[in-house]
Parts: sequence; C-alpha cells; structure tokens
Amino acid sequence: MTTLHQLGEREVIRRLAKLLPGRADVRVGIGDDVAVVAVEGGHRDFLLTSDAVIEGTHFLPGAAPEQIGHKAVGRVLSDFAAMGGEPLWALVDVVANRDMPLKRLEGVYRGAAKLAGKYGLSIIGGDMAGGPELQLHVFGVGEIPKRSAVLRSGARAGDVIYVTGALGGSLAGKHLSFEPRLEEGLWLRESRWANAMIDISDGLATDLGHILEMSKVGAEISADAIPVSTAARKMKTGRTSLEHALFDGEDFELLFTVSAEKQPGFESSWKDVFKLPCTAVGRIVKAPRGIVLVDAAGKKKSLKDAGYEHFSG
Ligand SMILES: [Mg+2]
Repeated sequence: MTTLHQLGEREVIRRLAKLLPGRADVRVGIGDDVAVVAVEGGHRDFLLTSDAVIEGTHFLPGAAPEQIGHKAVGRVLSDFAAMGGEPLWALVDVVANRDMPLKRLEGVYRGAAKLAGKYGLSIIGGDMAGGPELQLHVFGVGEIPKRSAVLRSGARAGDVIYVTGALGGSLAGKHLSFEPRLEEGLWLRESRWANAMIDISDGLATDLGHILEMSKVGAEISADAIPVSTAARKMKTGRTSLEHALFDGEDFELLFTVSAEKQPGFESSWKDVFKLPCTAVGRIVKAPRGIVLVDAAGKKKSLKDAGYEHFSG
C-alpha cells in the first residue's frame, strides 16, 4: 500500500484535491499560500488559510509558551503576507493534555494575542479538545482588493528573483520568533512590484520550486548572492551554510519576482521604505523547469544533479 511519505506532500495534496467539489466563487483553490474567494458584489476578495503547530514537530515541549503562540499565529500571517493581503479574523483550535497547567496555555494565548494584535488580526473563537500533546490549529481570514492577490503563478522568464532577510538555521531560534513580512508583502502588492510571491516555509529551494511549477518556468540562482544568515553559518551539522540557506525551512521570509525592467526602480524604492535587506538571488528563465545553481566561477549545476534532491523531500 502506498503511504503518504512515499508520495510526498505535493502529490498527496494533488490526489486529495481531485476528490473535492468546486464552487464558482473560488478564485484560487488548493495550490497557493492561501485560498482566494470572491465576495459577491463586493470590491474585495477573502483570503482563507489554516495551519497547525504540533508539539514535538513544530516546537519542543520546553519551548516558551509565548513563542508557541507567536509561531502559530505568525505562520498564518506569513501566508497572508505572501499574497499581499491583510489579516482580519482567526479561529484557534487547541488540542491539549487535560493535565496541562492553565498557566502554560495562558502564556501561549498571550504570545498569540500579542502578534495578532500587532497586525490587526482578531482571534474570535475556536474549539478545545483533549489529546496527548499540545497542538494549535489556526484558521485565518484576510482580505485583499478584488483580483489583486499576488499568486505563485505570475513569474515570467526574465524576472529577477528576490528574497527578504537572510536564510537558513531558523532552528536555532528564528522559527519561534520570526516577524511575518506583512508590511513588505502589502507594499509589494500595492506598488505592483511583485509578479509572483510565496513565503519561505519549506526552504528556498522547495518554495522557489513551487513558483516554478505554478508559473511553468525555470530559474537560475547564484550561490554567491544567496543571503546566508548568521545562524546558518553557526550550525554544526556537517552541511554547508549555503545548504542551510537553500534547504532549511521556517524562515518565513518573502520570495518574489520582479520584471527585469523594473529592477533599478524597485531596488531604490525598497531601500527608501524598508530597513530589512532584500536581495536579488537570480533570474527566472524559460522552462525546462527546475533550479540551476550558478557558482562563483559561472559553472552551472542543476540542484537535482548536485545531489540536493534528498534534502527537499
Ligand atoms: Mg506559505
């Protein structure tokens, strides 16, 4: 019998999606950072997304409660950021052991409420259930002007590929304390800079792969240009810091593409508005699909041929 692990997440989602009925008011269904649905007669679309954080998988039992709450809400906010949207409401389902101290759960909610409040997200309900370990399932609703969401499918050959911040090594702490890039995502959408956008939850290589697949294009990225975080440089895992920057998940930075002719204007505008670094890491090229890594000497190697594929599975 085929297991979920054998198929991989992408294929499992593709097969499940085939089982589901559609509706005429769905603008973007399964396959982007969030679903986009039309509001009848309105001037805006709703954005719907949900995310789970589970003890032992997304955080360790000893993690600070406030950070667990921060992460649960932050993941959902990061998905809104990736569309250029604005958060509105959230429901939170909590699965918790009945012997858990109330104080810990209050800490989780304080962390969740603090980040939610900062970005105008109101937590207005949810459910509680008993279970072996702590789990938070956050379902978020956001909004965006009608038909303006920045999708994964908008990248065109020639586009410059950008990432915000620095990548890799989030396990050292950033995965619990990251800032969702809502302001940046909103600005990128409002100023019409970004053609395609995603947040980096599964690692640069995997998430760029999602853009390539949905846009039916390829990419060349420069190994030297990739902004490697200090945390990635300090990791002692036997992998290079570049490998951490390419393959580590949970950076929650934005990855997006900008038309080549807009590059100078975009880069100077970004610097006028944000202190956060934004780095050009490569270019979108015509299919065949896949990511080609260009080293300092100009030598090209497909990420797959370089033996990297096992990391991203
Ligand atoms: Mg996402």
